[in-house]
Amino acid sequence: MSRTALRICPLCEATCGLTLTIEGTRVTGARGDREDVFSKGFICPKGAAFGALDADPDRLRTPLVRVDGELREATWEEAFAAVAAGLRPVAERYGRDAVGVVLGNPNVHTVAGGLYPSVLIGALRTRSVFTASTVDQMPKHVSSGLLFGDPNAIPVPDLDHTDHLLLIGANPLESNGSLCTAPDFPGKLKALRARGGRLTVIDPRRTRTARLADRHIAVRPGTDALLLAALATTLFEEGLTDLGDLAAHVEGLPELRAALSDFTPEAVAPACDVDAALLRTLARELAAAPTAAIYARIGSCTVPHGTLASWLVDVLNTLTGNLDRPGGALFPQAATDRTPRPAGPGRGFILGRWHSRVRELPEAKGELPLSALAEEIDTATEQGEPLRALVVIAANPVLSAPDGDRLDKALESLDFMVAVDPYLNETSRHADVVLPPPPPAQSPHHDFAFNTLAVRNQVRYSRPAVPLEPGRMAETEIHARLVLAAMGMPEADPGSVDAMVVEQTLAKAVKEPHSPVHGQDPQDLAARLTGDDGPERRLDLMLRLGPYGDGFGADPDGLTLDRLLAHPHGIDLGPLRSRLPQPLKTVSGRIELLPAPVAADLPRLRQALRERPAGPVLVGRRHLRSNNSWLHNLPALTGGTNRCTLHLHPEDAARLGVRDGEPVRVKGAGGEVTAPAEITDGIRPGVVSLPHGWGHDRPGTRQSHAAVQPGVNVNQLLDGTLLDPLSGNAVLNGIPVELTRARVPEPR
Ligand code: SF4
Repeated sequence: MSRTALRICPLCEATCGLTLTIEGTRVTGARGDREDVFSKGFICPKGAAFGALDADPDRLRTPLVRVDGELREATWEEAFAAVAAGLRPVAERYGRDAVGVVLGNPNVHTVAGGLYPSVLIGALRTRSVFTASTVDQMPKHVSSGLLFGDPNAIPVPDLDHTDHLLLIGANPLESNGSLCTAPDFPGKLKALRARGGRLTVIDPRRTRTARLADRHIAVRPGTDALLLAALATTLFEEGLTDLGDLAAHVEGLPELRAALSDFTPEAVAPACDVDAALLRTLARELAAAPTAAIYARIGSCTVPHGTLASWLVDVLNTLTGNLDRPGGALFPQAATDRTPRPAGPGRGFILGRWHSRVRELPEAKGELPLSALAEEIDTATEQGEPLRALVVIAANPVLSAPDGDRLDKALESLDFMVAVDPYLNETSRHADVVLPPPPPAQSPHHDFAFNTLAVRNQVRYSRPAVPLEPGRMAETEIHARLVLAAMGMPEADPGSVDAMVVEQTLAKAVKEPHSPVHGQDPQDLAARLTGDDGPERRLDLMLRLGPYGDGFGADPDGLTLDRLLAHPHGIDLGPLRSRLPQPLKTVSGRIELLPAPVAADLPRLRQALRERPAGPVLVGRRHLRSNNSWLHNLPALTGGTNRCTLHLHPEDAARLGVRDGEPVRVKGAGGEVTAPAEITDGIRPGVVSLPHGWGHDRPGTRQSHAAVQPGVNVNQLLDGTLLDPLSGNAVLNGIPVELTRARVPEPR
């Protein structure tokens, strides 16, 4: 007998609601949930493969502990005892920063990843924190921190209502959106055009998204900040700025105008390879549109001026009066956001509160650059101890960080490493302890992160679709026990971690004058929380204290976990609304248009007007059936067009003497790889493209399908020295490479 269960898809940022078909305890099918309040039935091939992911036979089923150099199956008790025995002596002997934490992107797709890593970092008291953000979106956090005082206040384009959308370095027809949670992003772009709106795509590749646009501009990689600066300068020069209601919330406008005055369309056109007249047209169109939004993503972040590009996006949204207005770019309000405090000055956002040991790179948002991870392990300095132990949660930096070969060796030298990972992959194979979470159908789901980036306010929660398999441990319990092991208490009750967080949160809330529970008894409030376990009680707490919450009775119609559970397809909380000035936490209480760190970085952008690599440059690309390194072990999602090939323009192929499918050697500062050519005129001449997350050919892994078609690790071309200095984000796009024709293998 089969049954169905609802589950939010964790496989990309779109967060579609799925209806799973379940036979016994096995997921045998997945389709879009038509009644889902947000996704309304949309699904993509990744979501449809949910059952295959769940049932992947290569998933680890029990913990592994290294004994005499070999990873062997162990009990959970043995595994956590080994974690405590491995971590504590390192911290005690070498200091707390000798234990590092590495968090991968899947953490933002799980309840456990949303609730526990900050508690773990607090328990370890380490400043050696590295995450996938610094090979992705950290520039956006930094620009939001500097402009708005809050690195997590990220405006999203109002896709359902805008009249004009300018997309830069984003390919939502493949990615389904990023830093903009929008199920059926492709449908929303088509709807924009159908209602008479205009779509412009700026990308060195003629992507599927570009093919849908009214206009595609094949900009030279890495020059987005110059292009955006020219649009801003045009608005100033031609008297087209119109801040509207925003004017009351902005400071630094004259200074901004002066700072950008060099970046005229005529000055930037040669660097961007975009006609100056076209740049002026883009600026005029933005200004003339009834509503407009600029949305820029990974192609504009993973470049030398990623923070400046991210900053200029919101500067332009502000100058055209489109920030914080319907149809423009708005700040979402998630149900688990903290109790909104009254508008007013905040503490602001500070960069560089500490620095990495080897290169003295500044922290951003409490993180050090992932590019520095290898050197922080393998390089001795007088500034302190190298990293001796690592806690790696859902991360595969051997493939996702620059120079995986160096990191691969560095991980071998650690005194201790624990990995929370369902697979023995290129990184977790180095661990002394591997703690495998259960398949997704056995875990609950709520999108703590992505609801703060959603194009419509809504809230949804799925309980596990199937019970935990015997011998499995809930992912939330694994995380809670990891916290306890880090504290040297591996046998303590994991519920004590949640109880501690609840107690601390309530103790703070009752002291806040703007809180609905101000002055109340925290113990009494804690006793009123509902939920089957600690994580659910924490979710109940966040919902009740959040912007739509019942405030523990202050608003009887407000949200609680019980109310959410009564709405299995979710609760719609309405379209995005204007919220300023409440989200601002800058010292001035205003949008600080020209923050000092940005102003100090502008001379470097000016320098870029004169620089231009002579040879070819490399950019990345996404595929609809891929997501970083996690999905390459599923036959349903690999093969066909999802292959690790080198996109090459016909002119470049002819110059190299390479035919389609023939191997090309690509050499960068960090190493070289050889990949088959895929000749296409969908890429600019002089630009080549490789996808990331591939390179599954290292020994000691257990991903049998991925190892058959391993592809190559594009990040091996990097040596980790190219960074956006403000954010520490790795430069992954527009990097200079050398191309040569490789020897074609002899037929066997
Ligand atoms: S678009 Fe993303 S969230 Fe939706 S089904 Fe596909 S992978 Fe899942």
